[in-house]
Amino acid sequence: MACDMEIAVIGAGPAGLAAGLTAARLGRRAALFEHRAIGGQIATAAHIDNYPGFPSGGSGPDLAFAILDQARGHGLEHRGDEVKAVRVEHGHFTLATTGESVRAGAVILAMGSRRRPLGLVRESELSQGRGVSTCATCDAPFHRDRPVTVVGGGDTALDEALCLAQHCSRVTVVHRGDRVRAAHPLRSRAEESERIDFIAHTEIVALLGEETLTGVRLRDQTTGEETDWPTDALFVCIGGIPNSELVRDLVDVNDVGRIVVDPLCLQTRTPGLFAAGGVRVGSTRKVIGCVADGCVTAGEADKFLGQR
Ligand SMILES: Cc1cc2nc3c(=O)[nH]c(=O)nc-3n(C[C@H](O)[C@H](O)[C@H](O)COP(=O)(O)OP(=O)(O)OC[C@H]3O[C@@H](n4cnc5c(N)ncnc54)[C@H](O)[C@@H]3O)c2cc1C
Repeated sequence: MACDMEIAVIGAGPAGLAAGLTAARLGRRAALFEHRAIGGQIATAAHIDNYPGFPSGGSGPDLAFAILDQARGHGLEHRGDEVKAVRVEHGHFTLATTGESVRAGAVILAMGSRRRPLGLVRESELSQGRGVSTCATCDAPFHRDRPVTVVGGGDTALDEALCLAQHCSRVTVVHRGDRVRAAHPLRSRAEESERIDFIAHTEIVALLGEETLTGVRLRDQTTGEETDWPTDALFVCIGGIPNSELVRDLVDVNDVGRIVVDPLCLQTRTPGLFAAGGVRVGSTRKVIGCVADGCVTAGEADKFLGQR
């Protein structure tokens, strides 16, 4: 039976966008499925400063839309549907989506990851616009001239802190190590900011407030001492959970749910099913690495289809 498309790409973060662009440039009938913002995580990244060729950096959304426009120019179809299930049937893949079901000869999984919650009591309740957030770009203006807190010590935490520092009176970054582990340029910019300060070897053990968040309880990991810290909002940036649940019966995953792939061709244990970017084991989880994965997987999917 003929397929609706040759290559289906799930997810329009940097990996999926680059996969869609490469597949379309190779002349394949390709479609990109994304039900949320184009760009995935970079849709909220105010400043990407490690992408080659852009020494002054640039905005995440601008980069994402530039790749999408380029890909569409080569014939990539963008569908605003969520993929709900992937099945292998009679030598092709069937994707059940929130729109119509489609058949594809090869599939590239580029579903990335979602933010990991702290796992504290009332966190999900307070995440409904009541003081706990995972998106500084979206929510910073609601806390103008107010003190806010960021939890986490990686690149994302400092990117969020720098964004918040443009709006909020004080940004406190709470992290567990001696020093934040973010990349040097981000760390320097955050350390130089007059509005950002750091609380080291500390974790957040409770969220305070009734209707909305009014503070967090900090625990010093060295002394065990607990302190209530008033804050207008908490931004949670403690890593991600890979979005691999969709294909758990078709792929192997590691202990944290990242998809296992052949390290050379990025194919999963199911022939014709490839994984790119942050959803796979061994990803750099940097934009440049995800883009490279997109390019590799589309090239391998093209070869796979050519050998059938
Ligand atoms: C605030 C912030 C700043 C950052 N800054 C930098 C930086 O400066 N430099 C850098 O190198 N990295 C940066 N990163 C990290 C970088 O953005 C990620 O590593 C990268 O976006 C991962 O790309 P990805 O394509 O694998 O997945 P993601 O970006 O996570 O995108 C995955 C996409 O798949 C979609 N999806 C998932 N499941 C489905 C489904 N079933 N159907 C349809 N679509 C689906 C999601 O909606 C999402 O849009 C930053 C991240 C954040 C959050």
